[in-house]
Amino acid sequence: MMTKDKLRQLTGDERLGQMRESEYLGAEDIDDGTEPVLTIAGLWYGSVTLQRGKENKDVLSFKEERVPGILQVRPLIVNSTNRKTLRKLFGDAKASTLVGKQIQLYVDHNVRDPQDGGMTDGIRIRPYKPRVQKQEPVPPCTDCGNPIEAAMGKNAHWLAAYTAKNYGVPLCAACAQKRKEAVAAAEMQQETENVAEVQQDSSPESFTVDPDTGEVL
Ligand SMILES: [Zn+2]
Repeated sequence: MMTKDKLRQLTGDERLGQMRESEYLGAEDIDDGTEPVLTIAGLWYGSVTLQRGKENKDVLSFKEERVPGILQVRPLIVNSTNRKTLRKLFGDAKASTLVGKQIQLYVDHNVRDPQDGGMTDGIRIRPYKPRVQKQEPVPPCTDCGNPIEAAMGKNAHWLAAYTAKNYGVPLCAACAQKRKEAVAAAEMQQETENVAEVQQDSSPESFTVDPDTGEVL
């Protein structure tokens, strides 16, 4: 591209709006379809520089520098909607209450733009504790000791939980299959034995018939 400015071409997963040079977090910083979870590091108040001039604002800073969904975490200016959500979520909006707490952000596409009155995107805080929970590490397979890996369209966590429920221990897909076959074989064996017993029971006992009277002796 011919221009005197130094531009860098975006490729792959890089997207428009992501490289914004702003002091504060904006809706454009959040990847589509993600709801980043951030840990509150501090509460701030003061004059912040906005497009429309300087205004006194509440600001939250965060512990994370980068999380899934946000390439570069910046402080968030807290508007009245989000302040209300924080109060509802944690009981009050005190520094002693909020520092260290996790919040889940999402982009609301129907926020009224204070400049032109139209609709714009805004960052909102979910009115519930983050649901993106940190999962416990998946235990290794009890039978072979190897890591349990995703299989048959199920992830490792699901497989570990499913096998623990069905076999009493977490198993990899291969070992679960072996156990399943072993159980089936044992059942087959049992069935064969039962059939054999039944046949024995019903086998006619030896008896003698009196050739003259036809009576069973
Ligand atoms: Zn295994």
